[in-house]
Amino acid sequence: MQNTPKSLRLHITIFGRTNAGKSSFLNLLTGQQTAITSPVAGTTTDVVEKAQELPPLGPVLWLDTAGYDDNTSLSAERLNATEKTFARTDIAILVCVGDNIGAKEQQIIEKLKQHNIPLIKVYNQADKYKITQTDGIVVNSTDTSERDKILNELTTALIKLCPEDYISTRPLLGDLLPPNSTTVMIIPIDYEAPKGRLILPQVMAIRDCLDHEQNILIVKEDNYTATLQNLKTPPALVVCDSQVVDKMVAQTPPDIPCTTFSILMARFKGNLATMVEGAAIINHLQDNDKILIAESCTHHAADDDIGRVKIPNLLRNKTGKNLQIDYVSGCDFATNLADYKLVIQCGGCMVNRRQILSRIQQCQSAGVAITNYGVCISELKGVLERVLSPFPNILQIYQKTKNL
Ligand code: SF4
Repeated sequence: MQNTPKSLRLHITIFGRTNAGKSSFLNLLTGQQTAITSPVAGTTTDVVEKAQELPPLGPVLWLDTAGYDDNTSLSAERLNATEKTFARTDIAILVCVGDNIGAKEQQIIEKLKQHNIPLIKVYNQADKYKITQTDGIVVNSTDTSERDKILNELTTALIKLCPEDYISTRPLLGDLLPPNSTTVMIIPIDYEAPKGRLILPQVMAIRDCLDHEQNILIVKEDNYTATLQNLKTPPALVVCDSQVVDKMVAQTPPDIPCTTFSILMARFKGNLATMVEGAAIINHLQDNDKILIAESCTHHAADDDIGRVKIPNLLRNKTGKNLQIDYVSGCDFATNLADYKLVIQCGGCMVNRRQILSRIQQCQSAGVAITNYGVCISELKGVLERVLSPFPNILQIYQKTKNL
């Protein structure tokens, strides 16, 4: 993910007058000395860029600008560089001294309005930051020693203001492979499959491969082994439905990367790294731990419903623990999240990515782990490491959390 090109990152620009604390705020967010800070006015000479993975939102690019009231000998050049950032800013952060919105701040706000750029105001009050959104609603006030809290507040505001195309326009799997490579998709056609059509993640995966000039070979699970043997060149990737994941793993040579449609959707709709960390927590569950299963809609639950029946059974069998499992469905999300050890979120096929990201964020704020059905099922079937083979960075995160 660190390789995400700059063009695909959410561009967040920090504006403000000289010495308002813009660079200090950026350093606080990134946890490192990204921008040079100094009491000397005009220390930030050009626009400083810093790429970062900001979970659960994803890859972002911070842009730290020179003071908007710069009156040094280089001021014209610096202001020119700052002016250019308006054209590539997705969300602006305006750092103000105290809660002072003076003429310079007003000038920036007007410019942002002209460019239709959503704004988050940060009031720098000595050792405290107060983060507010465009409409002036105070999100929270914290001191700089509480970096995680500030990041949480800011990320919550960013998720709300994030442009829809950043939230929803993402590759499902096309970015994993070069053009002309072949993916084998295993699609079971059984009583659970809808009559006469494929389900949405399967259709999306096929379309995404075609959009990325890649080839697809679609087979039913019973024909998979024979198809593999008939191929002159092994496929670059195998993707299957979660319900046959154990079968696929058993039949796929170890050097061929493989995964599931659910894992691709977890990456597409939420944040795979966070979901995988949550799944690893299953290995640390203890008696009386509380688990929350969160369904995003109030669908009719079948006799062998995944959330109500299959996952609870698999969880109890795998852990051998006496777990307390609660359920929420629809738009409601628990207000007592901190009581839970783990939240298992449904695939969210009926809701948008913003809602899933918001739930992830709420869990992170409450300090509770979150995973989703697809990732969880692979973990409970003992094949999660194998189906993370196309995502080596995520696999490392999983192994680290599992071995804690
Ligand atoms: S996976 Fe889809 S159908 Fe199932 S509970 Fe979630 S939103 Fe509803």
